[in-house]
Amino acid sequence: MQHVAPLAKLIEQFRALPGIGAKTAVRLAYHVLDMDAARARSLAEAILEAKEKIGFCNTCFDLSDRNPCAICASEKRDHTTVCVVEQPQDVAAMERIHDYNGVYHVLHGALSPLEGIGPENLRIRELLARLRDSEVKEIIMATNPNVEGEATAMYLARLLKPMGIRVTRIAHGLPVGGDLEYADEITLAKAMENRVEL
Ligand SMILES: [Zn+2]
Repeated sequence: MQHVAPLAKLIEQFRALPGIGAKTAVRLAYHVLDMDAARARSLAEAILEAKEKIGFCNTCFDLSDRNPCAICASEKRDHTTVCVVEQPQDVAAMERIHDYNGVYHVLHGALSPLEGIGPENLRIRELLARLRDSEVKEIIMATNPNVEGEATAMYLARLLKPMGIRVTRIAHGLPVGGDLEYADEITLAKAMENRVEL
């Protein structure tokens, strides 16, 4: 189907998003054209504002509009416990259970030799730097329950244990091969509660 150039361009942009197929891209583009100008402008501005204002916290590497982020800056959080996760979405998932009062460290991925992702591609150096001269007593490995997540947890446990830090792994019971992000709150709370020593 031929579309006028600006419409074709908009469809192409939607098509490039994850989980958006050709039909959905066309539907979304027509939906945008149906919006009044103010609505379309606020959509465009929300995208720009998110990109401009959100960066990484230099301590935990979660997404944040301030540095340090609200969690790292909070005196109400227990800064002696650090939960290590793969993605910022996992922090959001953990926060939804309202059960965890420690702080986080976001690796931005997991070890995957097949995809060429090694320790230097993750925020591991930053984690080690952060732990040096810190009061951290426990690191909870909450990487995903799949091959890459397990390998990452084991790798970090080997690095961290000689530093005299207790290293634990969230319990299984999370669907194997699943993403932490999509675990329901009860499953995630149980997995945290039943964590095991590594
Ligand atoms: Zn932070």
